[in-house]
Amino acid sequence: MKVLVINAGSSSLKYQLIDIEGEKLLAKGLCERIGFEDSVHKYAKSDGFCTESILSLHNHVEAIDAMLRLLSNEETGVIKAMDEIKAIGHRVVHGGEAFNQSIIIDDNVLDTLRQCIDLAPIHNPANIMGIEACRQELPGIPMIAVFDTAFHQTMPPKAFMYALPYELYKKYGIRKYGFHGTSHKFVMKRAACMLGRPAEELKLVSCHLGNGASICAIENGKSVDTSMGFTPLSGLAMGTRSGTIDPALISFIMEKEEMSIEETTAFLNRKSGVLGLSGISSDFRDLLKASGNGNVRAKLAIDVFAYRVKKYVSEYIGVMNGVDAIIFTAGIGENNSLVRKLVTDNMEFFGIKCDCEKNKSDTGVEMDISTDDSPVKILVIPTNEEMEIALEVKRVLNV
Ligand code: ADP
Repeated sequence: MKVLVINAGSSSLKYQLIDIEGEKLLAKGLCERIGFEDSVHKYAKSDGFCTESILSLHNHVEAIDAMLRLLSNEETGVIKAMDEIKAIGHRVVHGGEAFNQSIIIDDNVLDTLRQCIDLAPIHNPANIMGIEACRQELPGIPMIAVFDTAFHQTMPPKAFMYALPYELYKKYGIRKYGFHGTSHKFVMKRAACMLGRPAEELKLVSCHLGNGASICAIENGKSVDTSMGFTPLSGLAMGTRSGTIDPALISFIMEKEEMSIEETTAFLNRKSGVLGLSGISSDFRDLLKASGNGNVRAKLAIDVFAYRVKKYVSEYIGVMNGVDAIIFTAGIGENNSLVRKLVTDNMEFFGIKCDCEKNKSDTGVEMDISTDDSPVKILVIPTNEEMEIALEVKRVLNV
């Protein structure tokens, strides 16, 4: 069965066509700069064929159209007819408290999603545009919404409540929601396979370290706490996001730098994190290079990043009263041995012992980098959110 996975952003559309039986990627693509005259469409098949074109995609409907043309074209395609696509899985960033698991999209679900726009004003409208475009271009094909927040809906109130007047939770839904749930869930299942034990018996700390980064405490297959909050701005220092800061700093910065609320929000989201600390880049490859060349601020940025990860890992081990494995995933977690070393060094007290030789391999493949006698395993697991979405589609449709 072929499942199309769609991840729609405000001016982008990422897609993958997956054969769910063999859990095999058939083709994937990315449309960028939707709404501009010079949109870019990149497309690749699993056999190595790839193409890139500049065209004018005015909206998401035109992007879906362009995608379908490539997927079904005799030369470039992987399907002969549209009806080979049996279902569509949509990544939806925010499901609020309304959705604690993936769901078949109907008019009611779409209405509820629109009500969640307040909670994710940048992401959810784009996700909805993707859903509406698919409805128009591929009518009749079942569509499933898979939420970044759903995996974290198992957190207990003591973990998700902020110490603010309770009425704000009731009035506006102010609480911790958490994100990257699809990724944390995928690597949790892989970790259970690698450890040869059911996820329901394990205590895991999952570190999703990409441009956006979050940590998740997973106990018996359920998220019990996570570092992102009401929005994806909190928790770790990230590529360009500040992560958690003293809340009093917001009014202080606004006053001193004479910035509006919008400017300050953009400043914390886009100019901060390791980019702001280093003054060089949000990309860890640039930071590693600069730090290697003696740049003090690049080194500081890496140190701040890794120190925060280490603090969350320690905190969550405490919360769960133990841990079976630490998981590293996403761009930095999968590829950056220095960050993994900085996080896991001096953690013998917790039974965490990293094998330097095993850790050095930056190949981005699944591996256990702990020493043979380490009571806690340290696992590097490439994430695959699209595959997890396709698996969710299969589970929800019960096929
Ligand atoms: P997102 O999906 O949130 O945009 P990614 O998971 O792609 O982020 O991670 C991006 C980060 O991963 C960047 O900081 C990048 O430098 C880092 N990264 C990717 N590949 C490597 C590598 N080979 N070595 C070191 N860092 C890497």
